[in-house]
Amino acid sequence: MTTVADDTRAAAGRDRVVVVGAGMAGLLAARVLADHYPTVLVLDRDELPREPVDRPGVPQGRHSHGLLARGRDVLETLFPGLTDDLVRRGALLADVQATTRVYIDDRPLAAAAGDLRSLRVSRRLLEWYVRQRVAALPGVEILDGTSVVDLVVDPAGGAVTGVVASPVDGDGRLEVGADVVVDASGRTTRVPVWLSRHGVTTPPEERVRVDVSYATRRFRRPPGHPDGGARTVLCPPTPQTPRAAVAIPQELGGLTVSVAGYHGDRPPTDLDGFAEFARTCCSPAIADLVAGLEPVDDGATYRFAANRRARFERAAAHPAGLVVLGDALCAFDPVFGQGMTVAALECLELGRCLSESRDDLARRFFPRAAVHLDTPWTLVVGSIGRQPDPDAVAPDGPRRRRLPERRQAVDRYVRALQRAATDDAVLADAFLRVVHLVEPSPSLLRPRYAARVAKARLAPTRAGPLGRVLGRRARPTSPTPAGAEPLDPAAPPGPTPPTLLPGTPDTSHTDAVGQHHPSITARQEATPS
Ligand SMILES: Cc1cc2nc3c(=O)[nH]c(=O)nc-3n(C[C@H](O)[C@H](O)[C@H](O)COP(=O)(O)OP(=O)(O)OC[C@H]3O[C@@H](n4cnc5c(N)ncnc54)[C@H](O)[C@@H]3O)c2cc1C
Repeated sequence: MTTVADDTRAAAGRDRVVVVGAGMAGLLAARVLADHYPTVLVLDRDELPREPVDRPGVPQGRHSHGLLARGRDVLETLFPGLTDDLVRRGALLADVQATTRVYIDDRPLAAAAGDLRSLRVSRRLLEWYVRQRVAALPGVEILDGTSVVDLVVDPAGGAVTGVVASPVDGDGRLEVGADVVVDASGRTTRVPVWLSRHGVTTPPEERVRVDVSYATRRFRRPPGHPDGGARTVLCPPTPQTPRAAVAIPQELGGLTVSVAGYHGDRPPTDLDGFAEFARTCCSPAIADLVAGLEPVDDGATYRFAANRRARFERAAAHPAGLVVLGDALCAFDPVFGQGMTVAALECLELGRCLSESRDDLARRFFPRAAVHLDTPWTLVVGSIGRQPDPDAVAPDGPRRRRLPERRQAVDRYVRALQRAATDDAVLADAFLRVVHLVEPSPSLLRPRYAARVAKARLAPTRAGPLGRVLGRRARPTSPTPAGAEPLDPAAPPGPTPPTLLPGTPDTSHTDAVGQHHPSITARQEATPS
């Protein structure tokens, strides 16, 4: 390991950028910065492994990590040949529209061959590969085992002029001067604390409490497994079942499966409890998928309290010389797998800003980064908006979050679009383009999609007339999971999908490969006499 003390250039020279953190955001930032600065110094407190293995500084790396289509495109632009190299190492290049099963309530989006390509690869292999490529760039140095413990702030103008670094296995502290400091230290960033300590006003922050817990198990996919080896399956949380599950195939026959509970609902890691939890999500598809598979680890958990977005672009003043990106700028529930792609888009934007000028970089960067955050933030906060709000306590329990009137209308429309997309591959494609950050979320409001949504509301469906009356919710909704907050029964009608009529018998199910089998009653009703 190199130590700060060994770095003879430390504290000398100013034509340099310091990046705090060698996670995905820090590495991608270094790649872009190397085009514009002669020296880019990346500091990370972890001992960075020589092999593609998990590491303590990125605990989320043990959980399901999907690289979205847009993220793969950006990474391929930054590192030409990345896709082929990783496929040679066993990663799967997948047709998103054909091989992603996103469940809307208990039915998957309609599947069809499409043009989006995502890479199914573990976080440890992806980050290791990117690190090798970045370390090989001229002018870039990655210094591991080195913790950043403070910022250096010019007391006169409040500009950030460097960092204070310290070797993890020693006591030394060293000031490292820099033209620009890039904070890519992730969810646990200390930058707001350090700014306050130096008397610099911190930016406004949005927080949406979720108290989410993830549990993850890794499995081996045997040859001939019914998912065909390459399917990603996602069961997002719904109002009736505020639990989520995701299964992502990875290199060399791996399958990583994560389940999540909200507002104190803690999923277990023991195999039986884990499978049972997965079965209580909006569809049992993931529980069926892993049944009989061989686990290859003991499982891991991850918890966080809130989705958090620092609004530097709204700050009255911002210290010159400080750029913040990745999870340090905005960290949200990873249920749609967008974090690495968002970081990649922010870094691309940083590169565009630098191509125009190095001057006033931070002030120009933040509003432009915010544009890339709007869609993923809306998606995640939108899905949270359908869950109880633990901060809005009514006498009989938490009330559902109240969205503004217009947001409620949009939310109802998006729910209708999602349900229609279980029959309509064009709408499924539109929705997946938003999830994969290829299109912004307002694209779903385009007239050509709205017309299909309206038509779907009128047209006969696979489930038949009875199914339509039932709102095509064929499986009874799960009871509120143990530990989860009940919905307020007195809450005004929100964007809740229709539920089964009371007393209607239901025999429908979704099988292990995502094929929906409507209830016998519904099929009989649908058969013309
Ligand atoms: C459970 C879970 C599942 C996820 N799944 C997905 C997914 O499927 N797809 C996806 O795109 N994203 C996913 N994410 C999000 C994704 O991990 C992050 O958005 C992405 O890695 C970008 O993070 P980052 O580089 O900003 O921070 P990190 O990856 O957390 O890296 C921060 C780095 O900074 C270092 N560091 C921290 N503090 C200091 C310091 N003081 N000094 C020096 N070094 C420091 C750490 O050691 C670490 O290397 C998931 C997140 C979680 C929690």
